[in-house]
Amino acid sequence: MFTQTKNSWLLYNQNRHCILCGLHACATTNLCQACLDDLPWITHACQRCAIPLNSHSSSLAICPQCQQRPPLFDQVIAPFEYRFPIDQLIQLAKFNGQTHYLNPLADLLRLRLQTAPRPELIIPVPLHQKRLQQRQYNQAALLAKRLARSLSIPFSHQLLIKAINTPHQADLDRKTRRKNLRNSFHCINPPPASVAVIDDVMTTGTTAAEISRVLKQAGCQQVYIWVIARTAKELHLS
Ligand SMILES: [Zn+2]
Ligand SMILES: [Zn+2]
Repeated sequence: MFTQTKNSWLLYNQNRHCILCGLHACATTNLCQACLDDLPWITHACQRCAIPLNSHSSSLAICPQCQQRPPLFDQVIAPFEYRFPIDQLIQLAKFNGQTHYLNPLADLLRLRLQTAPRPELIIPVPLHQKRLQQRQYNQAALLAKRLARSLSIPFSHQLLIKAINTPHQADLDRKTRRKNLRNSFHCINPPPASVAVIDDVMTTGTTAAEISRVLKQAGCQQVYIWVIARTAKELHLS
């Protein structure tokens, strides 16, 4: 009883106060204006892969890597660089069960989607069944459901599955990542013409590229990758 009351109280207060500084929050994002302004927003990025570009290369709409070797995905949207405090919020949500951080992160991503093409379906990057049992939730699916609801776009976790439980990508170099992921995702139903794939972070882009390959092979024409954060240094693979 007490725990229930305490949890309700915490939830109530989380909804009213900035999740970073504890001061009054903006009603829509759970973050106050000062903390919002301090977040590592990506202001200049490649319009294809969302890799941050420095301001004097802002006239460049597509980065040299995408020009040389266009990626399999059509567009990546990523509002933030993967650094403090966004990295901390994502890690708390992903590994510490603090999933209440995901809704404000999804809402911040949605702010970046105002001019983005609308897909017919929103799907998460799937977790392998075994990984899902260990973690008990897929943070990408929670983000995707929130986005789908707020954008009034259908959501599905029945389109794509992770059939092979690959090792943690973070420990691997790019070449090994690509080799490991090859054929690990399966499209189990016919995809619509356009799909947005949701994940928390995009690093090398290996996962995004492999999922795009699988979806397009199954007949999907447009694949958009929507993530909360993008690492600044790594580039995608096509
Ligand atoms: Zn604040
Ligand atoms: Zn690019």
